Amino acid sequence: MSRRGFRAEDSLRLRVISLFLSIDGEVNGCGQGTPAFFIRLAGCNLRCWQERGGCDTPYSFGSGEEMPVGELLRRVEASGCPKVTLTGGEPLLQRGPALAALLEGLAARKVAVSVETNGTLPPDFAGREHVASLVYDYKCPSSGCEAAMLPFDAMFVALGPSDYIKFIIADEADYACARDKVLRARELAHAGPRLAFSSFLPALPGGLTPQALVARLLADRLFEVQYNLQIHKFIWPDAETDI
Ligand code: SF4
Repeated sequence: MSRRGFRAEDSLRLRVISLFLSIDGEVNGCGQGTPAFFIRLAGCNLRCWQERGGCDTPYSFGSGEEMPVGELLRRVEASGCPKVTLTGGEPLLQRGPALAALLEGLAARKVAVSVETNGTLPPDFAGREHVASLVYDYKCPSSGCEAAMLPFDAMFVALGPSDYIKFIIADEADYACARDKVLRARELAHAGPRLAFSSFLPALPGGLTPQALVARLLADRLFEVQYNLQIHKFIWPDAETDI
């Protein structure tokens, strides 16, 4: 705090859709199922699965509420939770001094942070050094957004062992895309991120069920792949918005 009581944290703002305490429903370096305070930031630069039921968080497309970073830090502190999941929408659209101040403030409070990002923006944002785990979604062909993804090789070599690249797999074409990337990762001489295959839920008509997806990855001996189910969709199957 300055001599006049002014906190830089209070002049920097982020656009927020919602804040809530829950568990991490998906893989991340801190562990799936880990209690986490969620900060869902506003806005997204993609519109996934437009012709197949759409994105599962369309309410994140709005402009949200502008909140001072200091208020966000106070809300995390009040929760008492030692883990924050920063998600969206696409949280890295708001990279800059406010996001850096939030990440620095959380690190100063010894709060572990994972960031869920959609695969379109590079991981070179200010404050990244305070992020315990980056989880990059790789949108496969069924999403209609694969062309917007960062090149896989660049994404893979920019991430480390506490990070993930997670493929959302709805059908056979998605599986073939994801399998090819796993085989490519084997060729890259880099101790890169964990790789995860996630079932698209609920399974699309004619798509790959969770049973079929697991059978495929085992049959293809993709033993470095971690399987991911969105466990929050089983705990709260009827939830349409943040719990
Ligand atoms: S990146 Fe995520 S939030 Fe954005 S449209 Fe796709 S699924 Fe929805």
